[in-house]
Amino acid sequence: MELVFRHDAYERACEAAVESAVEGAIRLDRTVFYPMGGGQPGDIGQLILPDGSRIEILDTVKGATIDDVVHVPKPGSVLPAAGTKVRAEIDWDRRHRLMRMHTCLHLLCAVVPGEVTGGQISDGRGRLDFNLPDTRLDKEAITAAINRLIEEDHPVSPRWISDEELTKNPELVRTMSVKPPMGQGQVRVLDIEGVDLQPCGGTHVRRTGEIGPIEVTKIENKGKMNRRVNIAFRI
Ligand SMILES: [Zn+2]
Repeated sequence: MELVFRHDAYERACEAAVESAVEGAIRLDRTVFYPMGGGQPGDIGQLILPDGSRIEILDTVKGATIDDVVHVPKPGSVLPAAGTKVRAEIDWDRRHRLMRMHTCLHLLCAVVPGEVTGGQISDGRGRLDFNLPDTRLDKEAITAAINRLIEEDHPVSPRWISDEELTKNPELVRTMSVKPPMGQGQVRVLDIEGVDLQPCGGTHVRRTGEIGPIEVTKIENKGKMNRRVNIAFRI
């Protein structure tokens, strides 16, 4: 399966052919739908059939292999036959908000020292858990630091580095819970020029300015070595 979002996160739609369709799982030969992973929710959207009818996609998840993407249709949908040509269209407004928040969490990671032990992105909000003792994290200071990086409008771009290069630079891996998938010879990293470099397979905006103003809404104490920093867009 060709994962269009891997090389272009801004593709909202693509032409594809159905490989298989059973209750709860439609597979295509290529797709713009991002499957849930790395703290980012799966895309929603629709598949448009040659006769103009539409199949609503309620979620996208990973299948058995690294490039296996499962489109989850609305229960009761009439399933297309294998080989049917479809147009796959994501809910772009929602995806763009997820891309903005996802990129913002990279900035949070750059601003707060400490290993990341978990994270979650949802529509309009996001959070990261840091392996930090009872240090005083200042909500206002983190908000200001991130908004400064957003205003500076740094370029954001994915690129590939070799497993060897990653092994030589262990400081690149700040996320303890999500180990980058090694063993394929190369790892996809996200480069926010001059700010952050992290292995990441998610979807991101092209420049930090596109994120728009944010604020740290809450810093929670979730245990002895866990500080949870919550972020939301400023409306
Ligand atoms: Zn990312």
